[in-house]
Amino acid sequence: MEKSESKKLILKNGSRIGVVGGGPAGSFFTFFAFELAREKGINIQVDIYEIKNFSKTGQAGCNHCGGIVAESLVHRLSEDGIILPPQIVRRGIESYTLHVEQGSTTINTILHEHPIASIFRGAGPLGSTVINAQGFDGFLLDLCEKKGAVVFREKVIDAEVQPDGVTLITGSAKRKYDLVVGAVGLNPKSLHIFQKLIPPYKPPRTTRTYISEYFLGSENITKHFGNSMHVFLLNLPGIKFGALIPKGVYVTLVLLGEDVNAEAVNRFLNSETVANCFPAGIALKDIPPCQCFPSINIGSARNPYSDRIVLIGDSASSILYKNGIGAAYITGKAAAVAAFRVGISKSDFKKSFRPVCAQLNTDNAVGKLIYSVSSIIQKSMFLKKVMFRIVVTEQKKERGKLEMSSLLWDTFTGSAPYRNILKRALNPILLANLFRKIFTEFFTPEPLSKG
Ligand SMILES: Cc1cc2nc3c(=O)[nH]c(=O)nc-3n(C[C@H](O)[C@H](O)[C@H](O)COP(=O)(O)OP(=O)(O)OC[C@H]3O[C@@H](n4cnc5c(N)ncnc54)[C@H](O)[C@@H]3O)c2cc1C
Repeated sequence: MEKSESKKLILKNGSRIGVVGGGPAGSFFTFFAFELAREKGINIQVDIYEIKNFSKTGQAGCNHCGGIVAESLVHRLSEDGIILPPQIVRRGIESYTLHVEQGSTTINTILHEHPIASIFRGAGPLGSTVINAQGFDGFLLDLCEKKGAVVFREKVIDAEVQPDGVTLITGSAKRKYDLVVGAVGLNPKSLHIFQKLIPPYKPPRTTRTYISEYFLGSENITKHFGNSMHVFLLNLPGIKFGALIPKGVYVTLVLLGEDVNAEAVNRFLNSETVANCFPAGIALKDIPPCQCFPSINIGSARNPYSDRIVLIGDSASSILYKNGIGAAYITGKAAAVAAFRVGISKSDFKKSFRPVCAQLNTDNAVGKLIYSVSSIIQKSMFLKKVMFRIVVTEQKKERGKLEMSSLLWDTFTGSAPYRNILKRALNPILLANLFRKIFTEFFTPEPLSKG
């Protein structure tokens, strides 16, 4: 690594890169770093620091997540030659079942080339004994090792900037790099290390969520959940959205809202609509879940780059409430492209990496608007009934457009950007149909025939 006459910081033959965090963002960066180094005709060394062992069950091996790999990401990965092997995919999700107080309906949208995958991030919930099961994060990290990365099972506890590099410090070693990549997720202590290195860096805003995994056995999962992700739009205080995602012999519950707490979780589990999804005679309170209250990124970081340093994934910009793994892919790849094709100075990242984060941030602003409208619908029994009726009617059609169904599909599964969803929601035909249905429901309300 050297400064050229124009003082440009670039990666060259023999450059050393230190990646802090071997979750999806760190692995996607590394994967593309090796691809781009090959394209540039240079040899590089990439060291990944990861404290978790993804072959372990429970918290020790898990990067807390609902485990939905969006259809758009499955598609992009396959284009890049990353095919998720069968032992990673616990279910191919082909539909979702919408649950509201008024009833439930299964929504099969337009058939897609790549089904959504449900995965575990580690080897499975605590106590899981599935043989040959591999987690998503472990699979990606293995891929990076096969490309030539060295994985250090060490925690980075500090870092120092020098004029000619950045040194990462662990409990047992100090190693100097030409470029350091921060892919530490939302770990507050690790983010603090980067705040110290880059004073203008402001970590993302977060809120608390809830995840639990219940063992129900293969037969129960197939019978009661099938290949469907179950989405709950219930009017329960503190909860925006709940989902039950089938995975092999387990079902994963995800609750998103404003700082979800134990009372909100109990309210959700005790609701009749939720209880009805589980096999009769099975009391959820009697199944010990593998559970946690992880943070989620709800507001992007500011200034996630400087000379020789760039932050990616959750530590930089994500996608509001969905497809965080997709955002890790987008930002990890964008940082690699910036570093190899443009340079590794602050101005290079500003020119080439920042616009990608800005695009995610703008899309999230649209997402916030969509969630505001959705929370009005969620709280109104009348509007929810209208929406539910439209969806049920669409699903009965053998032909024709499934406008409302596909809007909901993309909102819940992360298969399309929020801008695209908003644009389709403002379609005059959809709006005219919606107002007609609101008018009819208001003046001549009919009982619902459930889907
Ligand atoms: C409730 C909930 C549900 C979600 N559901 C989904 C979903 O269904 N689909 C989806 O796409 N996204 C989902 N997400 C978001 C997704 O989990 C994240 O966006 C994604 O994990 C971000 O990847 P990352 O690599 O940036 O960070 P992480 O996955 O958090 O990885 C960071 C890694 O860095 C390591 N690390 C941290 N500090 C250090 C250090 N100092 N030294 C060494 N290693 C370190 C950690 O051990 C970790 O492995 C969900 C999130 C939540 C909270």
